[in-house]
Amino acid sequence: MPENLGYGRQYIDDEDIRLVVETLQSDWLTQGPRVREFEEAMQARFEASRALAVANGTAGLHLVGLAFGWKAGDLILTTPLTFLASANCALYVGARPDFADVDESSGLIDPNRLEERLQQLDGEGRRPRAVVAVDYAGLPCDWQALRELANRYELELIADACHAIGATYKEKPIGSDSLADASVFSFHPVKNITTAEGGAVLTGSSALADRIADLRTHGMIRDPQRLEDPEQRETPAPWYYEMQNPGFNYRISDLQCALGIGQLRKLDFFLERRRAVAAQYDRLLADDERFRLPASREDCEHAYHLYALRIPFQKLGVNKTEYFQALRAKQIFCQVHYIPVHLQPYYRKNFGYKPGDFPVAEAFYTDEISIPIFPSLTEENVEYVVQTLRAELERLAS
Ligand SMILES: *Cc1c(COP(=O)(O)O)cnc(C)c1O
Repeated sequence: MPENLGYGRQYIDDEDIRLVVETLQSDWLTQGPRVREFEEAMQARFEASRALAVANGTAGLHLVGLAFGWKAGDLILTTPLTFLASANCALYVGARPDFADVDESSGLIDPNRLEERLQQLDGEGRRPRAVVAVDYAGLPCDWQALRELANRYELELIADACHAIGATYKEKPIGSDSLADASVFSFHPVKNITTAEGGAVLTGSSALADRIADLRTHGMIRDPQRLEDPEQRETPAPWYYEMQNPGFNYRISDLQCALGIGQLRKLDFFLERRRAVAAQYDRLLADDERFRLPASREDCEHAYHLYALRIPFQKLGVNKTEYFQALRAKQIFCQVHYIPVHLQPYYRKNFGYKPGDFPVAEAFYTDEISIPIFPSLTEENVEYVVQTLRAELERLAS
């Protein structure tokens, strides 16, 4: 029996270790040259004019909201089938999250349902501010449809691209200037590349990028030309800085960015491995009606952050919790993505959401199970996972 097959795991090689050790031995542990180097590598790889490395993906989403100037009363639309942070970023700035249900086959925000919600709000005289769309599991959203809606309703369009590092949409890399107004990555160890904790904001807007650069380090401004004090603008003291808007400490360290540089060099290899694992699962599970395979599309390259399988547990008479435990006993550590955000106690209490509000996302959640997918998963591991998935389902159904 293989050991500890999690739904995701990092892949660290000698190059990563060497890069981190070199940085440890250098003058800079943080706020040194590695941060900029990592950002430049991202700009080139993802066709983004500006990339800003930050403390984590959640900080990146918060900074985007701050930099756009979201405020109390603003409505931020997102998908219920996502990690908390995609919706919480509205809460952090006092804005109100709102949801549009997902597409049944992909789990991605459904542009038709989003449009319905926008029309409904319009009828009530309410003008939402932004859409945070999530490339769930690593499959890109319908960015063209989202862009049309964003233009028509004058919305800021944000990609929560934490799952989609390395994915492409109509040959454009996720993160590129041509898709969303700002895209956010996470480099948590389960994601497609890692810096332990870390994240990035990518954007084509230099004004937005400049604001984020200030806000990630307390809102401190040192550039003489941007100072408000006329004397300091003339002859700035070497220690002088101004805070014109309060920011946060959302910086990332040079140590982490050194790791990020090594990881980014391996991204194509990671993607190749993830796609090979997904293709093998697809092949092995295709003929079995009990398993509903993840969606893919012709106009995209999937980044396969997750392999989001669906099993109709209720129909099969299988208790999902028992199935989970049984798989754990066999060293297969699955996860579920996601408990729909609107069903969290905070969202129910503060916004009055209840079961049935977003039935497609809720049904998706009921059936979904994320099975192991990561670069070092072997063909034998995949066969073992598939055999065990089948065997335990049969055992528990009888
Ligand atoms: C991981 C993730 C985040 C948050 O990233 P952190 O780096 O853990 O803060 C946000 N949104 C989605 C969809 C994620 O998967």
